[in-house]
Amino acid sequence: MKFATKVIHAGISPDPSTGAVMTPIYQTSTYVQDAPGVHKGFEYARTQNPTRSVLEKNLAALENGKHGICFASGMAAVDAVIKLLSSGDEVISTNDLYGGSYRTFTKIFARFGLKFHYVPMTDLSKIEEKINSNTKMIWVETPTNPMLSIIDIEAVCALAKKHNLLVCVDNTFASPYLQNPLDLGADIVLHSATKYIGGHSDIILGAVVCKDDEIAKELYFLQNGTGAVPGPQVCFLALRGIKTLHLRVERACENAAKIANFLKDHPKIKSIFYPGFKEHPGHELAAQQMRGFGAMVSFTLKKDTFEDASKVMKNTKYFLLAESLGGVESLIGHPPTMTHASIPREERLAIGMTDSLIRLSVGVEDAEDLINDLENAFSYL
Ligand SMILES: *Cc1c(COP(=O)(O)O)cnc(C)c1O
Repeated sequence: MKFATKVIHAGISPDPSTGAVMTPIYQTSTYVQDAPGVHKGFEYARTQNPTRSVLEKNLAALENGKHGICFASGMAAVDAVIKLLSSGDEVISTNDLYGGSYRTFTKIFARFGLKFHYVPMTDLSKIEEKINSNTKMIWVETPTNPMLSIIDIEAVCALAKKHNLLVCVDNTFASPYLQNPLDLGADIVLHSATKYIGGHSDIILGAVVCKDDEIAKELYFLQNGTGAVPGPQVCFLALRGIKTLHLRVERACENAAKIANFLKDHPKIKSIFYPGFKEHPGHELAAQQMRGFGAMVSFTLKKDTFEDASKVMKNTKYFLLAESLGGVESLIGHPPTMTHASIPREERLAIGMTDSLIRLSVGVEDAEDLINDLENAFSYL
């Protein structure tokens, strides 16, 4: 089954009891049993829910995995994956990662005796330097957020195999349409399905996909044991959103390329971060491991100040000033004060996240309207 067919059919069949084409919202907390312990595979809705099961099967197919495990949010999915580890274990993570993951690693899991190292993963030797006998996992996010660097998933996985380490890839920025880390050797792929998978800025949802039965068993155990499960209505909305994932991402990527070209030589722009440009250090790699260059574009302004960034962000009409990404509507954001506010300024500057850094999540509106919107906002500088 090809991707465009999978989004509509993988794991999904008309409801057996009524023939409903859309998977029903099974809004129930429990299921009747014929005799003690004799049931239809559903006992209690934290453990199993039919709407969720269909979504999990579909997501597993989209990532070319075997098992899909859904969580109440992307962060709940991150939480579950880290709970595969134990006190004393160490994780090597990319240094340019989602602010919420950084926060949970440093402020929550560090208290429970886990140790995290943050390295620039575009340089493999930086990972190798941190590997020791306690290292258990490598945490990859690519394209990185918000600098849009590209990490070589296949190379990281080869290194991990040599040292018997798990690799988890947060694939939120790429979406399963553009990148499938399990095919490149990763053990676990994670999504904030709040973003491209849901695609309509109306749900909070997380997902993990893997091939290995043992890892899946532990993740299902954590899903049930911790209880951070999504409700059936959210699962329904995700299934609805997924049906157009390929169309949305394709158009968003096209729009992003047009916008990046407009920004590139603009007199108000200092630098631009977009893997679709030949000059981007990760361009070749992105062309290899992704099926498109994504719909995220970051840039800094000539006058590299928060004040100027603020003027731009206050004056766009279609680009809504909001956190998040991956929806049909375009969003504009300021990572230093929004998504990445929990990362100290010195660490931000070290990775090039200067005070005027603006991040765009390009949506599926008309590209010309979006470009005019930005041009108009720049006129306030
Ligand atoms: C949003 C996001 C998360 C967290 O997901 P939630 O659904 O907001 O909990 C994790 N990783 C990345 C890359 C994200 O963009």
